[in-house]
Amino acid sequence: MSLPPPLMATLLLAVTTASCVLAAGDDGGIAAHPAYADAVGTCGPASAAPAAGARRLEEYDGERIVDITHAYRPELPGVGPDGLGPVVFQTMSMANGSFCNLSELRMVVHAGTHIDTPGHMIQEHFEAGLDADKLDLVVLNGPALLVDVPRNTNITAEAMESLKIPKGVRRVLFRTLNTDRKLMWKKAGDLSYVGFTEDGAQWLVDNTDIKLVGVDYLSVAAFDHLISAHVVFFKNPDIIPVEGLKLDDVPAGIYNLHCLPLRLVGAEGSPVRCILIK
Ligand SMILES: [Zn+2]
Repeated sequence: MSLPPPLMATLLLAVTTASCVLAAGDDGGIAAHPAYADAVGTCGPASAAPAAGARRLEEYDGERIVDITHAYRPELPGVGPDGLGPVVFQTMSMANGSFCNLSELRMVVHAGTHIDTPGHMIQEHFEAGLDADKLDLVVLNGPALLVDVPRNTNITAEAMESLKIPKGVRRVLFRTLNTDRKLMWKKAGDLSYVGFTEDGAQWLVDNTDIKLVGVDYLSVAAFDHLISAHVVFFKNPDIIPVEGLKLDDVPAGIYNLHCLPLRLVGAEGSPVRCILIK
């Protein structure tokens, strides 16, 4: 579906035209996460087999620590059918005679697992400098509740009410039909994703103490409420949406959440590494 440029930007989703090699990955004999394909993106020459033990973990220390961040891979969802595309570009390569390997990072700050700041859609907040460097690490780190949203609905006021999230809970990760549909594992952006409606966002603001709002697709707001639901949240600069979380196979419940965005001065969003600790 073609979108007006501002909406495309809102949904992240930059498609880079740079070409890149897809090399078959070798996980050193240790099974990758079931949802990750074996192919990994590289932008240099096809690499030799990785060093023994090179692997990607989703859980650490016997599942005590769970990584709920999506790996930045070219197959992350993008605007078009082709996915995000590569974000890491190797500009110096030892395989090609350079004295070191050196890569550049080029990406929209709303790609993959990321945070939004209030300046994303409220110009006064942007001009006031409420950027990714000013986010409150107290909001981004602490006890959090992972809940399952009824699968037949957007996150409406009615759905919010049905979840009966107690007062005092400040951080909630909302798992929805998006996770069941594995939308973050599909290259093409899908506008039928589940998100907050305007009345759902308003209900959260009016009736809960939630400051960190985590969701499992690229926008906290349902597409039909893309601007209005975002703005309800952004009017409250102490609310931080965390988007594109990887909540597959994580039991609902209470965790210690740690989210650390990059200190991107002047940016209205940032990639973020989020983990749950039991
Ligand atoms: Zn965003």
